[in-house]
Parts: sequence; structure tokens; C-alpha cells
Amino acid sequence: MSKSGAKSRRKESLRIPKAKYIFVTGGVVSSLGKGILSASLGLSLKSRGYKVATLKSDPYLNVDPGTMNPFQHGEVYVTDDGAETDLDLGHYERFTNISMSKLNNVTAGQIYASVIQKERDGDYLGGTVQVIPHVTDEIIMNITKLARTAPKPEIVIVEVGGTVGDYESLPFFEAFRQFRLMAGPRDVLFVHLTLLPYIAAAGELKTKPTQHSVKQLREIGIQPDIIVVRTERQITREIRDKIGLFCSVNTRDVFMSRDAETIYEVPLNLEKEGIPDSVMKKLGLKQREPDLKVWADRVKRIKKPRKKVRLAVCGKYVGLQDAYKSITEAFIHAGAELDTRVDVLWQEAEDIEKHGPEKFLNDVHGILIPGGFGERGIEGKLIAARYAREKGIPFFGICLGLQVAVIEFARHVAGLKNANSSEFARTKYPVIDLMENQRSVHKKGGTMRLGAWACHITRGTKAFEAYDQELIHERHRHRYEFNNAFKDVFEKHGMIVTGENPDGRLVEMVELKDHPWFLACQFHPELKSRLIKAHPLFYRFVEAALKHQEKENQDVKNTP
Ligand code: GLN
Repeated sequence: MSKSGAKSRRKESLRIPKAKYIFVTGGVVSSLGKGILSASLGLSLKSRGYKVATLKSDPYLNVDPGTMNPFQHGEVYVTDDGAETDLDLGHYERFTNISMSKLNNVTAGQIYASVIQKERDGDYLGGTVQVIPHVTDEIIMNITKLARTAPKPEIVIVEVGGTVGDYESLPFFEAFRQFRLMAGPRDVLFVHLTLLPYIAAAGELKTKPTQHSVKQLREIGIQPDIIVVRTERQITREIRDKIGLFCSVNTRDVFMSRDAETIYEVPLNLEKEGIPDSVMKKLGLKQREPDLKVWADRVKRIKKPRKKVRLAVCGKYVGLQDAYKSITEAFIHAGAELDTRVDVLWQEAEDIEKHGPEKFLNDVHGILIPGGFGERGIEGKLIAARYAREKGIPFFGICLGLQVAVIEFARHVAGLKNANSSEFARTKYPVIDLMENQRSVHKKGGTMRLGAWACHITRGTKAFEAYDQELIHERHRHRYEFNNAFKDVFEKHGMIVTGENPDGRLVEMVELKDHPWFLACQFHPELKSRLIKAHPLFYRFVEAALKHQEKENQDVKNTP
């Protein structure tokens, strides 16, 4: 490509497509719920019939969160197209019911990688490559790319990770400032979320941190249009006035986001506050009524369920619940459909190894083993899987959870002594093993079996009962696979393969024949669960746990 060719291509991708753009920024502290606010806005606007797209921009230098420890970053959310992304994309999907792709998450790592690649390719030949304009242009291009992609959104919501004032997010804020100039003020809106702390000793909600964070935003040339304050208490008119005055926004444009009982209530609270209406007005969009009936109904059920059940998740990242975010949410979705509160015992697998299963698992009605990497905690998980199998407790294995169930079955039922996964040990019986195409892979980033893969389900199985269809697509993120060399031995002993990838004959689901509900899958079903449509496997697992609980209660009653 010639120098002028690269230049005109760059110019073209900087052209801003006609749409409305909402930038969601955060101040004071992190974890205020910018992701939930963005997802809720997405839902509110979508429920009014607008075509919405959401983009998360993350200022860290990793190309994606795929190489981070879950304790650092929480869960890695995988999209259908195999991108390893920020967990906020999970909120976007669960709220808006729109499937995300790699275009919906951009990191500073990706931005810099692309700029440096272009520099090497000679795209900027003759020039000095700088943060402004090269890095900022690249950030802008990522927004315009999403805005140009079908189905072309009418509204693009861009959330920026971190807090205003962080060094690393500066290029993003600068790019957004330029974006407003390029697109014109009528099409761009800045929503700033801050914290309003309550100081008990003074008996007051304090606005100063909000004032400071808005000041910081203004220093980099951004004046927020709407301020949303996260607060545990109702705010008064005086507080709104004060924030308005000091932050140069109209009192009408200061809103609160009160702590909610469930995150799914947030969109309903935003409606009550009138935030979506204000957003539409400011952007010159036609006012429309939202349709949130089904949503509100689900929220009601989450808040006042008739039944409850207690389940255990035995993992190794249980100290940080964000590491299992989508599983937590999938339980809530299934619970909402089954009118059940799902209480989860987050059980450290290593403790089971040390103290045995009885102490921790004797009062749960279902056991789930989630995904994971590395050997720590494996023995504890094997004990938990055995406990579920032998006691007839509903069992759900996800990814590593399938691998554990398979190893346990191999060792204790199929008689394959010391069977293991080759991820953990060299063994005579590598029942879980690397596929040929993974053996030569040494680079870590984006090299697993990722994204949506087809799975064919056998009729007459629990899997079929759940999905009620033969061909499904589910999302993956792993390197190791069930070793087909052992398939016959397993089936002979009662562990059957019920889901298989039609092309590679990869095992995707296994079940136990003689068990009330024992199912494990190599994919991550939790990633596709939504509030308005719980994932069928989670639904069936919770349902099986309820049945198990009922049976136990009956048994107790019948004991003389
Ligand atoms: N460590 C296992 C593998 O790579 C399982 C991965 C997972 O649970 N996501 O195959």
C-alpha cells in the first residue's frame, strides 16, 4: 500500500457514521457499576425499539484478558467469534440480549499493537508516531468500525474502564473529546457515574468527590451532560442542586442510582429516575415508551421467590466471585424461571481435599464444578465429583468440571488406575488429552479452542431433554479434550457421550446412565444464559436440585 493509500484509508475509517453516541465514564472509585449502567441503558433503549450497540474500552496493555489470572481480572467472557473479552460484555449480553463479538471490546493493548504494526508496515512513513493523533485515531476507528457493522446501530454506547484521572485511560478520554468535535455535540452525550459517599459521623451524603472527578474530566476537555451518582440513600433536591451548580449541569440532569437488591432492578430504577428519557431528549431522539414487562416480571420473581435451594460450586477462584460471574448470573436466571432462590456455597476445592466432602457438602442439593486451569484444587474437585456420583446428588460439570468427572469415573468405576489429564500428569491413561493441533501451540494468547462450536445431541438423553433440539452451538475456552480412545470403556461402564462435535468428533457432553442428574459439558453454557431466557442446562440442573431436595424431605418424613 502506498503512503497516500494508507492515509486515505485512515481518513475513511475515521469518518463518523451517522448514529448517536453515548460515552459512559466513571469517577471517584472503580466498581460503581459502569458496566451495569451501560448495559441497563442499552436495554432501556433497545426496549424502545432502537438498534443499540455497546463497546467496552479497557485501558490496560494486555491485548485481551485471556492471559490474566482470574484473581486479577475476574472471568474471561468468550464471544461466539472466539474473542476473549472483559466480563462487562457478559452484562451487555445478559441485559440487552444481543450477542457480542470481538468488535465490542477494545483494549489499549490492541490499540498499541495495531499502531505499532502499521508503523512497521510503513503506513505512517515519514511521520513521527504519537499518542495524538495516531493512538487516539485508532481508538476512534474502533468505535466507527462497530458503528458501521451490520445491523448498523442507531445508538452506540461506549463505556471506558477505570476511573477518570488514571494515567492509562488518558488517550481514551482524549479520543472521546475529539470524537465529540468530529461527530458534533447533538450526536454525542457524556454520562458520568460517580460515588456519593455517606459519612455516618456527619450524617451527610458528600458531593465533594463528585465535584473533584468532574473537575478532572473538564481538565481534559470533557463536560459531562448527565451525572449519575451511586448512593445508598435517597438524595435530596439540595444535593442535586449543589452537584448541578458545581459541575455545570442542570439539576434535572443529576440522577441517582441507588443500591439495588439485584442488578436486574437497575434498568427499572433508571426508568423511574427518568434517565433514558433524558438521554433521548438530549440526543434529539424520538421519545418512545419502553417495553420492560417481561423484565419487570423476572425481577419480581428474583426478589420474592416461593422456593429456595442450596447448591455448591467447588472451584479454586472462589475468593473472588467475579471469577465465576456468568455462573452466578446463570443461577439467578434459572432461579427466576423456577421461582426459586438459588443459594450458592462457594466452596474452596482444596478444603475438600484437606477435610473431606461431608463437612461441606452434606446439606447441598447440587454440586457444580466450574472451569479452571492448573493442578491446584484438582484432588478436592475429584472428591466432590465422586461424592455427587455415589450419593445421587445432581452434578453439573463445566469444562474442567467435565474433565474432572471423566477422570474420577475412570479411576473409580472404569478401573483405569491413576487416570488423569495430561495437563496435570504423565499417565498410562490420559483420559483427557491434548488434540494433535494443540501440541505444536506454544504461544498463550488466543490459542485455545475458542468461541462457538457445533454440538450434536443424542436423542433420549438428559441433554436432549434440556435443549429439545439436536444441533446446538456453545462457547468454548480450553485446550484439553476427552480422549476418544477411551470412549468405549466409559460407555461400557455407564458414562455415555451425549453431545459431540459433528466435524471433529470431539466429545462435548457426557452423562451418567444410572444417576438422577449427572451431566458435564466441555463448553461454557453460563456464557449464553440471559435473564429473559435462562440456559436450559442451568434450568434443568436447578430443577434436578429441587427434586433432590424434595426427595430428601420426603425421606426424612418417612423415617420412623
Ligand atoms: N484447563 C482445561 C483445559 O484447558 C479446562 C479449561 C477450562 O475449564 N476453561 O482444557
